[in-house]
Amino acid sequence: MSDDIQLEDGRTWSGSSSLVSWICRLTACELTGAFGRWLNDVKDRPNGLCSFDLRGLSNDDCDVFYSATARALERARQSGDYPDAASYFERWEVLLRMRESIRRGEPPNTLTHYAIVVPFDGKPIDFNDIWFCPECSTCLNQKKSCDACGFRLFSNDEGPDAWNDHG
Ligand SMILES: [Zn+2]
Repeated sequence: MSDDIQLEDGRTWSGSSSLVSWICRLTACELTGAFGRWLNDVKDRPNGLCSFDLRGLSNDDCDVFYSATARALERARQSGDYPDAASYFERWEVLLRMRESIRRGEPPNTLTHYAIVVPFDGKPIDFNDIWFCPECSTCLNQKKSCDACGFRLFSNDEGPDAWNDHG
């Protein structure tokens, strides 16, 4: 199984679902607030359902994503914790090279994993779209509280930004 990330100009980076999940997990560690929680949730989604489209992010959040994922890649490489991950690192690096290609104004087919440009469905990414309880990993079935442990995704006066997985 593989999952895809569509970039700003509609080109696609594609990787094995386990790689995408790993990238989401490590990148989420570089983020706080709703964005980090959402990305951390994406990593647990079933193979083939971890895809996302960066065109659904604001320009600012898109920048935040790239800098976080670049930091995460660098940190993972430096850590020495993943001695067998050379091919993963290489593939991950391509995502950042695609970004640089976009910045240079090159057309999507300069560097892409798909020959076609995928049309944007127009849907913004909703950071409150959380599938699994952050406490016990029970599937929330689109509810905002967990039937298994009682965890509430948001308390009354607490917006999604109050969440922090890393505190
Ligand atoms: Zn729970």
